[in-house]
Amino acid sequence: MIDDVARQRAERAARDAAKWTPNCSSCLHPMTAVELDCHPVWRCEGCGTEVDPGQRE
Ligand SMILES: [Zn+2]
Repeated sequence: MIDDVARQRAERAARDAAKWTPNCSSCLHPMTAVELDCHPVWRCEGCGTEVDPGQRE
């Protein structure tokens, strides 16, 4: 069934996104990937915290 394949792929994509998107260590809000001075960082839309991807805890 094509629908099953599509759903499994969507579920896997959602799982990967959840795995690779860190939560803010302060407010646990899911962080958003943004570029700061041509440098990719994670930014919390909740409290504004910015985290270098190489400094994930
Ligand atoms: Zn936050």
